[in-house]
Amino acid sequence: MRDVQLFIDGKWSDASGGRWQDVENPATGETVARVAMASADDLERAAKAASRGFAVWKAIPAVKRADIMHNAAALLRERAEAIAPNLTEEQGKPLANSINEARNAAAVIDWFAEEGRRVHGRTIPPRGAMITAIAAREPVGPVAGFTPWNYPIGQAVRKIAASLAAGCSIVVKAAEETPSATAAMVRCFEDAGVPPGVVNLVFGVPSQVSEYLIAHPLIRAISFTGSTAVGRELTMMAGKHLKRSTMELGGHAPFLVFADADLDDAVQTLAENKFHNAGQVCIAPTRIMVQEPVFETVLEGLVQKAKAERLGDGMDPATTMGPLAHGRRIEAVDALVQDAVAQGGRLLTGGRRAENRGHFYEPTVLADVPLTARIMNEEPFAPVAIVNRFASTDDAIAEANRLDYALAAYAFARAADTIYRLSTEVETGMISINHYDLAYPEQPFGGIKDSGFGNEGGHEALDDFLNTKFVSARII
Ligand code: NAD
Repeated sequence: MRDVQLFIDGKWSDASGGRWQDVENPATGETVARVAMASADDLERAAKAASRGFAVWKAIPAVKRADIMHNAAALLRERAEAIAPNLTEEQGKPLANSINEARNAAAVIDWFAEEGRRVHGRTIPPRGAMITAIAAREPVGPVAGFTPWNYPIGQAVRKIAASLAAGCSIVVKAAEETPSATAAMVRCFEDAGVPPGVVNLVFGVPSQVSEYLIAHPLIRAISFTGSTAVGRELTMMAGKHLKRSTMELGGHAPFLVFADADLDDAVQTLAENKFHNAGQVCIAPTRIMVQEPVFETVLEGLVQKAKAERLGDGMDPATTMGPLAHGRRIEAVDALVQDAVAQGGRLLTGGRRAENRGHFYEPTVLADVPLTARIMNEEPFAPVAIVNRFASTDDAIAEANRLDYALAAYAFARAADTIYRLSTEVETGMISINHYDLAYPEQPFGGIKDSGFGNEGGHEALDDFLNTKFVSARII
């Protein structure tokens, strides 16, 4: 049993009210840790610390801030293998994936460290002599970040690294289900020399923490990753208090396979990304649509891949897919699958919970599911693939655009005109065609429509944490 504390103003501490919440291993159901649950006093301390930390951090030259961030990245890379077991124990993913998550996070920090040195403004043509007119870029201020349990390091690191690169401080409320790895990552920033108050980490009752921090006058921007329903609530709150916000919300990604595609590559890419992290990935392929002539081939290929997944405890090296991260997901997923079958969808494999302890759900493939089924309209966030058919490119694009979710989309096709139409006509924040190429640090990452707004990757990610100030100075 380990205790995960709050990190406020450069110090680790229990919650002032003495509250703890148990953390469960989703593979066994055992309690493996407890996490400190912040009180209003703790949140007040965190907001004030972030305000003091902001004043210190923004005064440090960008090049020096980059050095400190590179130190944090190096520490995280060094500690990746030591951090990973706790991540697997609390989240469920295979150990190798946890190690990768920590290493990838180090790459994110390195990339943002450098990008912070490229926060450039513009000069504006002046309207008279001896005038300098510039659009300056300045950090927006202390940020409140809210991050989920599917990538305890990977989600939090994007918010921390981008806000620090912009010159902001941050209070992160990470997921109570998976606190240890996030805390270990924050410790890397502490040990790297980030001044007190620049990065703060809290846990607590999610709605209480968000209500407190979003309303707090010292917090100037919000960044949330999670479901569309919660994102909508937080956006309304942010609007009420006129706070800038970034929303990375749910998705229901279309994956279109055309008859002329490289089918082996399509099936391989599909299976790897559908069952990765037990399907608990906002950009996971979900609505798989296959052109009629190759429908059976793709379906059969995917069913074989699903059956080959090895379900188990993430600490077992033979495991390729771990449990769902918490119990409430099992009921939610099972209800969606049962509804799809009741409405006439064909269940080809899976479709039930597995093992006799923990929160395991079998890799599942459904086919020919009617559009009225809930799973065709609600984000499954689970290892469930839905394979339906389409006839023409028009049909495929219409189905891709049918939902208000618009985060990621994928396609496999050879004809240049099809690729052009998909690139321009699919309404989505990101589309990857004929390969899987999303979520690297230098690439914009974000959705549109009900999947949110703002960016968590690429230079665009800094925009959400920067104000533009117009300065016009006449020399006299
Ligand atoms: P949920 O909506 O209860 O919670 C999702 C996340 O938001 C959790 O981390 C939770 O702690 C946080 N949260 C919930 N209410 C909050 C509030 N009022 N203020 C601040 N944070 C709050 O759902 P869940 O059962 O934990 O997860 C299922 C759904 O969440 C999925 O269907 C998926 O849409 C979404 N989700 C998305 C991502 C992502 O990467 N975009 C990650 C995890 C979960």
